[in-house]
Amino acid sequence: MKIFILVDALRSDYISQKNTPFLYNLSQKYYYIKKIKPSLGFCERSEIISGLKSEKTGFFTAIGKNKQKSEYIKMSKSMSILLDMVDSILKKIPVIRLFNKNLNWNKAFRKIINKILTKKHNAKMSSYKIPYRQLRNFYLTEDEINHFSKKFFNQSSLVNKILSKNISINNKAWTYLGKKNQMSENEVKKYLINKNKSQKNEFIFSYLGSLDVIGHKYGPQSKEMENELMKLDLFFKKLIKSNLNSTIIILGDHGMKTIKSYFNIEPHLKKIKYDLGLKINEDFNYFIDSTMCRIWIKDNFKKENVINYFERQKELTENGAIISPKVSKKTYGDIIWLANEGVMVYPDFFHFNKPIGMHGYNNSLLKSQGTCIIYSPDGKNINIENENLSKINEIIMKDFV
Ligand SMILES: [Zn+2]
Repeated sequence: MKIFILVDALRSDYISQKNTPFLYNLSQKYYYIKKIKPSLGFCERSEIISGLKSEKTGFFTAIGKNKQKSEYIKMSKSMSILLDMVDSILKKIPVIRLFNKNLNWNKAFRKIINKILTKKHNAKMSSYKIPYRQLRNFYLTEDEINHFSKKFFNQSSLVNKILSKNISINNKAWTYLGKKNQMSENEVKKYLINKNKSQKNEFIFSYLGSLDVIGHKYGPQSKEMENELMKLDLFFKKLIKSNLNSTIIILGDHGMKTIKSYFNIEPHLKKIKYDLGLKINEDFNYFIDSTMCRIWIKDNFKKENVINYFERQKELTENGAIISPKVSKKTYGDIIWLANEGVMVYPDFFHFNKPIGMHGYNNSLLKSQGTCIIYSPDGKNINIENENLSKINEIIMKDFV
């Protein structure tokens, strides 16, 4: 049996004698890649499965623009305008603390509407905090196609390569956006521990997301993170001790950075819209990811004006810069502005509270990198300093399947 565990946001330097004594020991005795560098963006899962960097997969951020593919294309204009109005009124009501709980009207409203809309439109994509007027443009990019279908990167897919060796695939404990009946962290742990009773020739894809959640909420340097790492270390000790005849691949896909400052980009977008006479959905759209702002503009002349604005405005040049990744402009934006390490764009289209940690920065930076430890019964002891996340596919096939 082979168990692949994607540990979301397991940062390279989390592995230490003090934080994770078991994993540290394992890294010194078995196959260890200290630093794993993902492609820029937020589509690590397709990079792992396809074995290709984001410029080759075409997947860059989780959400892209394509009206034909949007699940919300049929949403009525008047309804979306009305919802945006209510949303903006509720945003102005301050969050109060009542009976030890934060009372956030805007969050409550968005959650209820989200439930109604996803049900009505039979949508996989949540409406998150995307302005309702813009919702009908957007769709899930990497999660549009099932990563375990034959269609997903046919030749280079890790899934297809494993299947071709007559090994069955088990993805019950895996994850993707919009997944219904997602297993909880504890359910995944229990599921994997209990798996040792079966001796099937099986490759298990599984996912543990708690480090990402804790990293965003409390930060990578927090006491909560220390506790979570300790829990994770104990889990892997238990899992490996009861699966000595299995191969266990532990992969951290990216890191986590403590946020140093928050930057509100909305006033700039409002100013651009007003100054250039742009109209939402007609000739202008934008998307605010936590570390990026992406803009679509029809008119080339106005596009130049916006680029000039972004390159001239002190606040924008101090907090980030325009980048030109080799990805589809039509899908990901004519203009892509990336925040500097430690700057979080807030408000964004995802968060109701200010996070403490974030990822999605320039991935050559150390704190943005993940790690990989592979236990195998034959005890391969190899120590590699750096590797790209896209290479994991090849490494697994060459040495562990
Ligand atoms: Zn995350």
